[in-house]
Amino acid sequence: MSLTGPIFETLRRSSAGAALLEITESLADVHVVGGTVRDSLLGLTPREIDLVVEGQIDELVEGLAARFSGSVTYHDRFGTATVEVDQERVDVAQARTELYRTPGDLPEVNQLSGVSIDDDLLRRDFTINAIAVQLSQPGRGTLRAASNGYEDLVARQLRVLHDDSFRDDPTRLLRLARYVTRLGFEPEPHTRSLVKEAVGQEVMRKVSAARIGAELRLLLAESDPLSGLDCLDRLGLLEDIASAAAGSKTDPQSLVELAWDRQRAKDALSLLPVDGDKAALLVAICLVVAARNSDVSTDLDTLRTWLDGLEFPTRQREAIVSAVIDGPLLADRLAEAQCPSEIASLLSGKAVEAVCIAGALRSQDRARRWLAELRHVKLEITGDDLVAAGIEPGPGLGKRLSIALARKLDGELRGGRAVELAFALNVRDIQGDDDP
Ligand code: ATP
Repeated sequence: MSLTGPIFETLRRSSAGAALLEITESLADVHVVGGTVRDSLLGLTPREIDLVVEGQIDELVEGLAARFSGSVTYHDRFGTATVEVDQERVDVAQARTELYRTPGDLPEVNQLSGVSIDDDLLRRDFTINAIAVQLSQPGRGTLRAASNGYEDLVARQLRVLHDDSFRDDPTRLLRLARYVTRLGFEPEPHTRSLVKEAVGQEVMRKVSAARIGAELRLLLAESDPLSGLDCLDRLGLLEDIASAAAGSKTDPQSLVELAWDRQRAKDALSLLPVDGDKAALLVAICLVVAARNSDVSTDLDTLRTWLDGLEFPTRQREAIVSAVIDGPLLADRLAEAQCPSEIASLLSGKAVEAVCIAGALRSQDRARRWLAELRHVKLEITGDDLVAAGIEPGPGLGKRLSIALARKLDGELRGGRAVELAFALNVRDIQGDDDP
């Protein structure tokens, strides 16, 4: 098979790709690029198809949308568009060069017209992403790559395209951690020294907290986020992430600290049920580990402000906050719980992420039992059954149900609905309006 054969195989396997191969028989200057080429050459399935056109994108986008029956979204900022249908996505961009006027800010599109694919490749983050394959005729299948692009892919290493790369866009440090995690690649020696230099110059502090948050969430969404965090820790980037959107260094109350403890994070993740939030849990464990290692105690407002600065959605922010606040408290109390109903009374209503933190810190078996088993235990009867049997609605009714549930959790109420109803109707120690 030719060098670029795997890319055409990838395209033929998807409906968008097949449509693309037909359309580009008669369209000029279309190239498949970036992650699509990289992943196909590595034998992986690309997440989307990335295309670059040397010239206007409209004809390709409209042709693709019509043939592939996809919906089109144009993104004004860079003259790019996305065509999507079901799970498939094609990103189309006009070849461009970019200019970083202020380090850390988003780049300006420096030039669109007359830009070649070779120029476009040079604006990219790493050489392994600066590879393109021509789709249009004549010349379909021609491979173009920035210097070392193909060789670096074969050698499984990450190399920036120029020495100012991390200064121009420090989020590339986080992207590097993402590719280390996802692909298992390592930076080559010169790039490694540029990383060190950039971290030493604290370049990340020039980036908006929102951009850092976005990259951090992408990293945490990778299939092995622990190795992503290993990498951030190794590169010394956790401190910079903590400083993003945090307050002044002179006021310890307004400081946020992150620290890494792989084993604790692994223990916490091993407890996380499918309805839990992996990213929230990992951020929380870094905050908790840091708090245990130092005397900085971040107050609640500072923590929320920091998470808002990083643009964590409200639900995720609150999961992190409750895990950080409740997790360590629950760890000790949970260790003292004597029976399942005590575990339940401590943990019921708590965020699952807080329970995972408690388990990772101390009470792993109890946390696991709650998450896997006890929190799913329910009575077969409801308040309606008690009302139908003559109990007045009110606090006493709720108390009957909770006593019955506690008995059931402790294994003392077996036999299903009828047994539960008889027990709840006969509960004696009720302090309420409906005392029998
Ligand atoms: P993939 O690399 O699989 O497409 P991704 O989500 O990591 O996934 P995107 O963020 O979609 O990549 O970026 C697509 C391409 O755009 C990358 O392959 C890279 O060449 C380029 N790119 C993205 N962000 C940057 C950046 N900050 N600096 C330079 N190039 C970038």
